[in-house]
Amino acid sequence: MIIGIPKEIKNNENRVGIVPAGVRTLVENGHTVFVQTEAGLGSGITDSEYAEAGAEIVSISKVWDANMIIKVKEPLEEEFKYIKKDQIIFTYLHLAANKKLTDFLKKSGAIGVAYETMVGTKNDLPLLTPMSEVAGRMSVQIGAHFLEKNNGGSGVLLGGISGVLPGRVTIIGGGIVGYNAAKTAVGLGAEVTLLDINPNRLRELDNIFNGRVRLLISNSTNISEAVAQADLVVGAVLIPGDVAPKIVKEEYIKKMKPGSVVIDIPIDQGGIFETSEKITSHESPIFVKHGVIHYTVPNMPGAVAKTATFALTNSTIPYALEIANRGIVAAALENKTIKTGINIFKNNITLEVVAKAFKEEF
Ligand code: NAD
Repeated sequence: MIIGIPKEIKNNENRVGIVPAGVRTLVENGHTVFVQTEAGLGSGITDSEYAEAGAEIVSISKVWDANMIIKVKEPLEEEFKYIKKDQIIFTYLHLAANKKLTDFLKKSGAIGVAYETMVGTKNDLPLLTPMSEVAGRMSVQIGAHFLEKNNGGSGVLLGGISGVLPGRVTIIGGGIVGYNAAKTAVGLGAEVTLLDINPNRLRELDNIFNGRVRLLISNSTNISEAVAQADLVVGAVLIPGDVAPKIVKEEYIKKMKPGSVVIDIPIDQGGIFETSEKITSHESPIFVKHGVIHYTVPNMPGAVAKTATFALTNSTIPYALEIANRGIVAAALENKTIKTGINIFKNNITLEVVAKAFKEEF
C-alpha cells in the first residue's frame, strides 16, 4: 500500500502523522511511504531523517495520491479537493461536531477512520489517551499563565504561598484529561475539586489522590457551586463520539470572579461551556465573556508538538500497519478497535453516535 503523510495546515498545528521509526516499520513491511516536504519540521523532524528511514519526500499533490493518508487533525476545506474514492483517511475526525466534513466524506466515497472513536480491548480509547494526557497536563499550565494579571487574569498564583491561600481549580470530568489536569494542579499546590458523573470513577480517583482532591458527583447543583468558587475551571467531559453536553450554563459563568479562566478542552466535540461561542487558535487562544477568560483551542497538543507527535504515533502506527498489511475490510473484521474507528464507509455513516448527531437512521 502507498501511505501518504501530509503536512498539517491547521493553525499552529505542528504535529505530524508519523515519525521516522514509523516510516521504517511500514517500509520493512513492504509498503511505500510518501512524506510531504517539511511535514515534520514543526516536530523537529527533518526531511532527511524521514528519507533515511525509507520515505519518499514528495509534493502536496503527490502525497494525497496515496491509498491511505495518515494525519493528525481532520481534513480542512482546503484539503477536500485532494480526497478521493476508496482512499483511507486515518486521523482525528470529530465528525459529530462537523457536518460539513461529514457530508463531504460521505459524498467523496473515501473511508474515514477516526482515532478518537477507536475503542480498545479494555473499553478504553487508545488513540485519544496520549493526547488527552498532554491536553490535561497543559491545561493547568495554560490556566496559570492566563491568571497572571499582565495576561488579563485576576492575578492569582495557583499554588499560593505560605500564609496565603492557593488558587482553586475545578475540573469537570475525571477521565484521562481530568486525571492529568488534577495531577498537575495538585503538583502546583492548588486546591482542586473534580466532578464526574460516574461514581465508580470517583472511587478510583479517591484511591489515587487519597484526600488531596475534593471529589464530587457531577450534577447541576455541584457544578454551579464549584464553578462559581473556582479561579480556573477545566472542562474534561467526554461522551465517546458524541457532541459534548453543555453542562456549564451561562449563569454559572456570570457568577465567577472577573479575571478567572475556563479551559474548554472538549471543544473538539462542541465544548461543555454554554459560553464557548467560538473556537480559538494557538495564534489567538482566548476571548473574554462575562469577565471570564475562555480558552477554546481544539488542538492543544499541537503547541507541544515534539512531545505530542511521538506520543501519538507510538499508538497510531501499529493500527496503520495492520490496515496497510490486511486492507481495511479484513483489518476491521479481525480487530474490533479498527472497526470502531470506521465512521464513514462507502458513502455511509457507519458509527451510530455520528449518525445520531445528524439524526440519520442507523
Ligand atoms: P475520558 O473518556 O477518559 O473521560 C471523560 C470523563 O467524562 C469520564 O470519566 C466520564 O465519566 C466523564 N463524564 C461524562 N459525562 C459527564 C458529566 N455530565 N459530568 C462530569 N463528567 C462526565 O475522555 P478524555 O480522554 O479525558 O477526553 C475528554 C475530552 O477532551 C474529549 O472530548 C477529547 O476529545 C478532548 N480532548 C481535547 C483536546 C484539545 O486539544 N482540545 C485534546 C485531547 C482531548
